[in-house]
Amino acid sequence: MTAPYLKLAEAPTLTIRSPDCNECAVEVTSDGDGWMCLVCGTQWDYDDGEDTPGTLYEEWSGESLEGVPLPPDVAWRVALMPNASERQAKAEELVKKELS
Ligand SMILES: [Zn+2]
Repeated sequence: MTAPYLKLAEAPTLTIRSPDCNECAVEVTSDGDGWMCLVCGTQWDYDDGEDTPGTLYEEWSGESLEGVPLPPDVAWRVALMPNASERQAKAEELVKKELS
């Protein structure tokens, strides 16, 4: 009886995944000090566990972002739009539509 594994011709490589921003549904990046979401700018410490709220961009940077704050469960719907400046406008449009 042999071991229950596939016999591969070549050794496979690994893909190491980063955590996801649960609002934007995208993988965060590592910026040297911690994790950061490139869609909403939120940061987390490396030792933050699952479901830990991060620090919003405006809080850690001291810079203001344009537009109105988006309620939860909206950002992921625009997160993959290639044009970053259109994301906020589109997200606000979606929120308005739902309220009307
Ligand atoms: Zn995000």
